[in-house]
Amino acid sequence: MSKNRCGYCLTPQILTSHKLEIEHIFPISKGGTSEKENLCLACRHCNLHKSSKIYGFDAVAAKRIRLFNPNSQNWMEHFVWDKEKTSVIGKTLGGRATVYALKLNDDLQKNARKIWKLTNLFPPKE
Ligand SMILES: [Zn+2]
Repeated sequence: MSKNRCGYCLTPQILTSHKLEIEHIFPISKGGTSEKENLCLACRHCNLHKSSKIYGFDAVAAKRIRLFNPNSQNWMEHFVWDKEKTSVIGKTLGGRATVYALKLNDDLQKNARKIWKLTNLFPPKE
């Protein structure tokens, strides 16, 4: 949780008025713990849509896929920005399932990213 941004959509804390939330990657309701390895920062949008989900659906593979884990997986290996740097594209099954389940490219997100691009703070370089 060291980068002070959402582990799923990379929203930096400094660009949002909502405090990033502590998200349980494996939900407490399904037996997850509050150990450091199971916690990540998430923006309000991602935390609401992630909720207690562990799996998402990948339309290409037409099957249920485990969602991206910000702690054990590398964002850059699973996602890439589109040419305009306003939409997240899943590169892997888990990446695509996460984009869909967490609605990473809804209009509010994309509109905010258009403004954030005007700063040097978004999208993050790493
Ligand atoms: Zn987010």
